[in-house]
Amino acid sequence: MLKIQNYINGNFHDPLSNEWLDNYCPANGEIYGSLPNSGKEDVDNAYIAAQSAFPGWSQTSLDERSRILIRISKGIEANLDRFAEMESRDNGKPLSLAKTIDIPRAASNFRFFAHAITQFSSESHQSIGQDAVNYTLRQPIGVAGCISPWNLPLYLFTWKIAPAIAAGNCVVAKPSEITPATAYLLGDICNEAGLPKGVLNIVHGVGSTTGQAIIEHSDIKAISFTGGTKTGAHIAKTAAPLFKKLSLELGGKNPNIIFADCDYKDMLETTVKSSFANQGQICLCGSRIFVERTIYDQFKTDFINKVKHLKVGHPSDNKTDIGALVSKSHLEKVLSYIEIAKKHHTILYGGNKVTVDGYENGYYLEPTIIEVDSNDCQLNQEEIFGPVVTMMPFDTEDDVLQMANQVKYGLSTTLWTNNLKRTMRLSNQLQAGIIWVNTWMLRDLRTPFGGMKASGVGREGGFEALRFFTEAKNVCIKY
Ligand code: NAD
Repeated sequence: MLKIQNYINGNFHDPLSNEWLDNYCPANGEIYGSLPNSGKEDVDNAYIAAQSAFPGWSQTSLDERSRILIRISKGIEANLDRFAEMESRDNGKPLSLAKTIDIPRAASNFRFFAHAITQFSSESHQSIGQDAVNYTLRQPIGVAGCISPWNLPLYLFTWKIAPAIAAGNCVVAKPSEITPATAYLLGDICNEAGLPKGVLNIVHGVGSTTGQAIIEHSDIKAISFTGGTKTGAHIAKTAAPLFKKLSLELGGKNPNIIFADCDYKDMLETTVKSSFANQGQICLCGSRIFVERTIYDQFKTDFINKVKHLKVGHPSDNKTDIGALVSKSHLEKVLSYIEIAKKHHTILYGGNKVTVDGYENGYYLEPTIIEVDSNDCQLNQEEIFGPVVTMMPFDTEDDVLQMANQVKYGLSTTLWTNNLKRTMRLSNQLQAGIIWVNTWMLRDLRTPFGGMKASGVGREGGFEALRFFTEAKNVCIKY
């Protein structure tokens, strides 16, 4: 049994209350470990460690910070197999995916911000005619809170921690209670890399106790959160009166818009991935597929044929395309949308639980394609966050633009067309933080990342993240 502990001031601790949560393996539905359900006192101790480390860490040279971050990155890479196995067991995602995407990206996050901090600069303004010069200091905030979800556990956890500490802050971080294991492993890697004690502190537990203690803490000055829109609204409500800086990366219901003039083969292959990668549990998945009517029937046939060949199976089987959903309750939530589809729409493929031999209690579901006849329906308006996509035809550019934007979310859009003018027109008008044209999930870590509308507030990535984790101070000197 894996016993996960809090990582505070460079050491591993049980929760003071001695309250523990069960950790489930989604692939077989069994409990395989436990994790702390930390209380306010544990968060207070994590804060004290972070606050004590801050004066030293914030004065550490950029060169030294960068060197330590690179050593963390190398430590993750050196333990790739161990991290990937842990991530796959905790989350249900195919081991191959954890090995090729999740863990390498976690290492890249540290490497990227190790370099970015050495290139980060601030502005200066010469006030001509007033004999003055203004320059901006970009100073670390102090102690930052970083809270992450279960779908890309270490990938998103480190996407917050790396820029926070690169910028000279100390951190109290909480991974999802559903997928805590790789964050636990990170503690040892940080110690081995020589990260000073207290710079990073990791407390485990549920959102309503541990998470709540972080967002309510009067001296934690910034919260970087990725998770559901409802939780984001609650965090904003709690943190705003305390004047915390807030970055909220929230849910999505992303359109995948397919025009007849696209590169069909490329589009078809990528659409299978953008629909079902990570069991459809990526905030950037294109869960609403809109297809130009002239190719709709062809697409429908070809898409179903491709999806039929996806193998649902145990995450460690290297032939598996679709692993287990993250939890029993999440599987039930996704199934409840399939029940709605049975009543009001047409299920073109899938819709059933899958029993994997030897793992009968695992949380497996067929990739599911549902045909809808209107964008107003619940299935097109609510985030399902599973291996479920809807599809419907459209006739004109204006129609599809209207449907793409007619949703409360605005995270990403995928657009398939070879028409340059249309690309420019739609990219200007689509309400989303990221527009992918003829591709999906192509990421450059320097770009601003985040959503509009109910998909979030603020941007992560590149210098945007370093700006978030620093306070800008203007100094005006008259000469
Ligand atoms: P969630 O909101 O339930 O939980 C996210 C994190 O917040 C967890 O660590 C949880 O313990 C914590 N939390 C819950 N209540 C809290 C509270 N009161 N105070 C402080 N922390 C609290 O989300 P989830 O189910 O883990 O993740 C799935 C959601 O995340 C989906 O909506 C998905 O779209 C979204 N997501 C968004 C992005 C993005 O970049 N925009 C990326 C990945 C996932």
